[in-house]
Amino acid sequence: MKLLIMGPPGAGKGTQAEMLVKELGITHISTGDMFRAAIKEGTEMGKKAKEYMDRGELVPDEVVVGMVKDRLQKPDCQKGFLLDGFPRTLAQAEALDETLRSMGIQLDGVINITVPRDKLMARLTGRRVCRNCGATYHILFNPPQMEGKCNACGGELYQRSDDNEEAVANRLDVYEAQTRPLIEYYTQKGLLVNINGDQEIKKVFEDIIAGLKK
Ligand code: ADP
Ligand code: AMP
Repeated sequence: MKLLIMGPPGAGKGTQAEMLVKELGITHISTGDMFRAAIKEGTEMGKKAKEYMDRGELVPDEVVVGMVKDRLQKPDCQKGFLLDGFPRTLAQAEALDETLRSMGIQLDGVINITVPRDKLMARLTGRRVCRNCGATYHILFNPPQMEGKCNACGGELYQRSDDNEEAVANRLDVYEAQTRPLIEYYTQKGLLVNINGDQEIKKVFEDIIAGLKK
């Protein structure tokens, strides 16, 4: 399957993506994770991206589009993929359409997770991520078995530098202005699968699987 997962920051895209790629045997492509990997490696692209990310702004379209185009050509995408956090602007969505057309690929669906805006701040400021394997936790809503340690690999949990109140507020505004219009874009293409993300993690997952079967 070739899928996108959309929703505001904190909707649970990464959490669900982790489970979905296991269930469906497809490749997870998170543009945010790719930028964080580039930052860790200290590449020029990573250094440039970090300035935008720490302010809660979007990295320029041409940088993201080029990165995703290259990623989609890799052999592990042939078994199917789940794009998480991309596209985030209309220009990115149009560039993705063009890339997929040139590859002879069609999307099977676009999962759109909705969560009331007033719940997103608490989700993001309480988020913790494993430095080693990238698994996502929440200090209250999805705590690890041992404080500060990843259940899956024992790695150290950290707080993302853009998960502070100021950057989150900006990210939520950026979502409303630039990304929300994509809901209409994919609805018109008949691809949108709307999911209520304001439920337990397991229930959200079940709803996604059921929604994709329809
Ligand atoms: P996104 O990738 O959309 O930004 P995440 O998957 O990282 O969102 O989730 C954001 C935070 O909310 C994380 O701390 C995660 O553990 C928590 N979370 C995810 N899904 C739920 C849920 N259904 N209910 C409560 N908290 C959730
Ligand atoms: P995420 O991990 O999806 O929350 O993304 C973290 C940050 O990475 C965002 O706030 C942006 O600064 C940047 N980013 C990730 N994906 C994109 C994208 N598709 N377009 C522009 N910037 C992005």
